[in-house]
Amino acid sequence: MAKKFFICNVCGDVHFGEAGPEECPTCGVENAYERAERDEALEAIGV
Ligand SMILES: [Zn+2]
Repeated sequence: MAKKFFICNVCGDVHFGEAGPEECPTCGVENAYERAERDEALEAIGV
């Protein structure tokens, strides 16, 4: 399974993997991650 980018829609934390975390490690909100395009994720990181 290809890895994808996910962005927390609460705090903007970016996760790269097969699925978004159930609970955001940064803000603690559950099910806050949404699929994001690569460019969108890199922009959120600030690259
Ligand atoms: Zn978060």
